[in-house]
Amino acid sequence: MTPRRRIVPVFVPHLGCPNDCVFCDQRTISGSLHPACPEDVRAALEKARAVSDYAELAFYGGSFTAIPEETQISLLSAAQPWRESGFLTSLRVSTRPDAVTAEKLRLLRSFGVETVELGAQSMDDRVLRLSGRGHTSADTEKAAELTRAAGQKLVLQMMTGLPGVDRASDLRTGERLAALRPDGVRIYPTVILRGTALERLWRAGKYRAHTVSEAVETCAPVADCFLRAGIPILRLGLNPTAELSGGEAVGGAYHPALGELVYAKLYLEKARAAIRALPRPPRRVTLLVADPCVSRMTGLRRSNLLALRWEFGLEDIRVKGGAFPSETVAIEGNL
Ligand code: SF4
Repeated sequence: MTPRRRIVPVFVPHLGCPNDCVFCDQRTISGSLHPACPEDVRAALEKARAVSDYAELAFYGGSFTAIPEETQISLLSAAQPWRESGFLTSLRVSTRPDAVTAEKLRLLRSFGVETVELGAQSMDDRVLRLSGRGHTSADTEKAAELTRAAGQKLVLQMMTGLPGVDRASDLRTGERLAALRPDGVRIYPTVILRGTALERLWRAGKYRAHTVSEAVETCAPVADCFLRAGIPILRLGLNPTAELSGGEAVGGAYHPALGELVYAKLYLEKARAAIRALPRPPRRVTLLVADPCVSRMTGLRRSNLLALRWEFGLEDIRVKGGAFPSETVAIEGNL
């Protein structure tokens, strides 16, 4: 039987964070009402051990390296018996770029933290300022360099549709983050959460919501930029939770299947480009994509195939999966 592995998330919402980003309500995003303590870590790992053979522990939310050092040590220490027993294969934390130093990374490494996730959000300093982030793009570049130098894996998080941004700026952020060669990225289109400063700005007419359709238009080329660079996209869109779906997301780009909408758009554009590049208008087309990407190419309720059929006047259009790179969309007979 294949060994069962799972990621055990422990949320440290807002704990240790000196900032007030306009969009932030970590409690709603994480679904967690209180900051984690060592007992929570032990309980989460105990629960995971009952149903899996290996686990990775992930401290999400807040800014882990901005927490007082003794709290970091107590949380990380709680996991060590599971690490020593071999059940816990790795640990990861998420934090702010300006809360990363070589010394803090050394501490994490001594407790087995192999992956550091940085909330870069934007590489446009004006957007960072208008969003109340309290750090600059240079902080992100430096933190990325320190993480690499410490031999840890680097994951970068970005947001689209923040205050003061436009699509070109979001695309530049994608390109600059890809140039930092992260081991993975997460893309979060901005969602307006109840009770945040962003909600007040929006209701006062000082911020225009990043709609789901805008997020799809923006994230498709951003995602393409990462995929072409061979950088895995670990998450696209906020994880759907009962709180968010139940009314805490008051506006912006919240959709439980946002990632699928973005990928469908991305593959639609790739297919359009491939058909247009044919020497003659085709009557029938078979699109070749990587096996796991067949449903992304097909689109929700075959929407992509219907759109292409109508747009190019095709008699027939099909999708075939194969052993292709994930960013490929080719036409059979035209590889
Ligand atoms: S840095 Fe993170 S935890 Fe702190 S306010 Fe901003 S988003 Fe929230």
